[in-house]
Amino acid sequence: MDSMYDLIIIGAGPAGLAAGIYGGRAHLNTLILEKSTIGGRAYTTREIVNYPGIPTSSGPDLTAKMSEQAGNFGVEIK
Ligand SMILES: Cc1cc2nc3c(=O)[nH]c(=O)nc-3n(C[C@H](O)[C@H](O)[C@H](O)COP(=O)(O)OP(=O)(O)OC[C@H]3O[C@@H](n4cnc5c(N)ncnc54)[C@H](O)[C@@H]3O)c2cc1C
Repeated sequence: MDSMYDLIIIGAGPAGLAAGIYGGRAHLNTLILEKSTIGGRAYTTREIVNYPGIPTSSGPDLTAKMSEQAGNFGVEIK
Protein backbone atom coordinates (compact mmCIF):
# COMPACT_ATOMS: atom_id res chain seq x y z
CA MET A 1 0.00 0.00 0.00
CA ASP A 2 1.25 3.51 -0.80
CA SER A 3 2.38 5.67 2.13
CA MET A 4 0.64 8.92 2.97
CA TYR A 5 2.75 11.76 4.40
CA ASP A 6 1.83 14.92 6.26
CA LEU A 7 5.10 16.58 5.27
CA ILE A 8 7.48 16.00 2.36
CA ILE A 9 10.80 17.86 2.39
CA ILE A 10 12.98 18.17 -0.69
CA GLY A 11 16.68 17.81 0.14
CA ALA A 12 18.50 16.14 3.04
CA GLY A 13 21.08 18.84 3.70
CA PRO A 14 21.28 20.39 7.18
CA ALA A 15 18.18 22.53 6.48
CA GLY A 16 16.09 19.59 5.28
CA LEU A 17 17.26 17.36 8.13
CA ALA A 18 16.50 20.08 10.69
CA ALA A 19 13.04 20.57 9.17
CA GLY A 20 12.56 16.81 9.30
CA ILE A 21 13.45 16.70 12.99
CA TYR A 22 10.84 19.39 13.69
CA GLY A 23 8.25 17.56 11.59
CA GLY A 24 8.89 14.22 13.25
CA ARG A 25 8.90 15.80 16.69
CA ALA A 26 5.50 17.35 15.88
CA HIS A 27 4.21 13.83 15.10
CA LEU A 28 3.88 14.59 11.41
CA ASN A 29 4.44 11.59 9.15
CA THR A 30 7.51 13.04 7.45
CA LEU A 31 9.46 12.07 4.32
CA ILE A 32 12.68 13.68 3.10
CA LEU A 33 13.59 13.17 -0.56
CA GLU A 34 17.28 13.46 -1.41
CA LYS A 35 18.59 13.23 -4.98
CA SER A 36 22.24 12.89 -4.08
CA THR A 37 24.02 12.65 -0.70
CA ILE A 38 22.34 12.73 2.71
CA GLY A 39 23.99 15.64 4.51
CA GLY A 40 24.14 17.92 1.46
CA ARG A 41 27.13 20.21 1.05
CA ALA A 42 27.99 19.89 4.76
CA TYR A 43 28.71 16.22 4.08
CA THR A 44 31.60 17.26 1.83
CA THR A 45 33.25 19.40 4.52
CA ARG A 46 36.37 17.93 6.10
CA GLU A 47 36.18 19.87 9.37
CA ILE A 48 33.29 21.86 10.87
CA VAL A 49 34.27 23.95 13.89
CA ASN A 50 31.44 26.50 14.13
CA TYR A 51 28.43 24.30 15.02
CA PRO A 52 27.20 25.33 18.49
CA GLY A 53 27.70 22.62 21.09
CA ILE A 54 29.98 20.53 18.87
CA PRO A 55 33.47 22.05 18.96
CA THR A 56 34.78 20.01 16.06
CA SER A 57 33.41 17.37 13.74
CA SER A 58 33.82 16.13 10.21
CA GLY A 59 30.97 16.83 7.81
CA PRO A 60 30.10 13.14 7.38
CA ASP A 61 30.05 12.56 11.16
CA LEU A 62 27.94 15.63 11.95
CA THR A 63 25.43 15.03 9.16
CA ALA A 64 25.17 11.33 10.07
CA LYS A 65 24.14 12.45 13.57
CA MET A 66 21.53 14.81 12.07
CA SER A 67 20.19 11.99 9.92
CA GLU A 68 20.11 9.59 12.89
CA GLN A 69 18.31 12.20 15.00
CA ALA A 70 15.66 12.60 12.28
CA GLY A 71 15.32 8.81 12.10
CA ASN A 72 14.78 8.68 15.86
CA PHE A 73 11.66 10.77 15.28
CA GLY A 74 10.41 8.34 12.65
CA VAL A 75 11.41 10.44 9.64
CA GLU A 76 11.96 8.50 6.42
CA ILE A 77 14.69 9.52 3.97
CA LYS A 78 14.56 8.24 0.37
C1 LIG B 1 33.61 22.93 0.94
C2 LIG B 1 32.59 23.49 1.89
C3 LIG B 1 32.95 23.73 3.21
C4 LIG B 1 32.02 24.23 4.11
N1 LIG B 1 32.41 24.40 5.41
C5 LIG B 1 31.50 24.84 6.31
C6 LIG B 1 31.84 24.97 7.70
O1 LIG B 1 32.96 24.69 8.12
N2 LIG B 1 30.89 25.44 8.56
C7 LIG B 1 29.64 25.77 8.13
O2 LIG B 1 28.81 26.18 8.94
N3 LIG B 1 29.27 25.62 6.83
C8 LIG B 1 30.17 25.18 5.93
N4 LIG B 1 29.80 25.05 4.62
C9 LIG B 1 28.45 25.46 4.24
C10 LIG B 1 27.43 24.37 4.56
O3 LIG B 1 27.82 23.15 3.95
C11 LIG B 1 26.07 24.84 4.03
O4 LIG B 1 25.75 26.07 4.67
C12 LIG B 1 24.97 23.83 4.32
O5 LIG B 1 25.26 22.57 3.75
C13 LIG B 1 23.66 24.37 3.74
O6 LIG B 1 22.64 23.43 4.06
P1 LIG B 1 21.31 23.36 3.23
O7 LIG B 1 20.55 22.18 3.78
O8 LIG B 1 20.66 24.69 3.21
O9 LIG B 1 21.74 23.10 1.70
P2 LIG B 1 22.62 21.93 1.05
O10 LIG B 1 23.69 21.45 1.95
O11 LIG B 1 22.99 22.45 -0.30
O12 LIG B 1 21.56 20.76 0.87
C14 LIG B 1 20.56 20.78 -0.11
C15 LIG B 1 20.26 19.31 -0.45
O13 LIG B 1 19.11 19.30 -1.30
C16 LIG B 1 19.32 18.34 -2.31
N5 LIG B 1 18.46 18.69 -3.43
C17 LIG B 1 18.47 19.85 -4.15
N6 LIG B 1 17.51 19.81 -5.09
C18 LIG B 1 16.88 18.62 -4.94
C19 LIG B 1 15.80 18.01 -5.63
N7 LIG B 1 15.17 18.61 -6.66
N8 LIG B 1 15.40 16.77 -5.24
C20 LIG B 1 16.04 16.15 -4.20
N9 LIG B 1 17.06 16.69 -3.52
C21 LIG B 1 17.48 17.92 -3.89
C22 LIG B 1 20.81 18.43 -2.61
O14 LIG B 1 21.28 17.25 -3.23
C23 LIG B 1 21.39 18.64 -1.22
O15 LIG B 1 21.72 17.42 -0.58
C24 LIG B 1 30.69 24.53 3.69
C25 LIG B 1 30.33 24.27 2.35
C26 LIG B 1 31.25 23.75 1.47
C27 LIG B 1 30.83 23.46 0.03
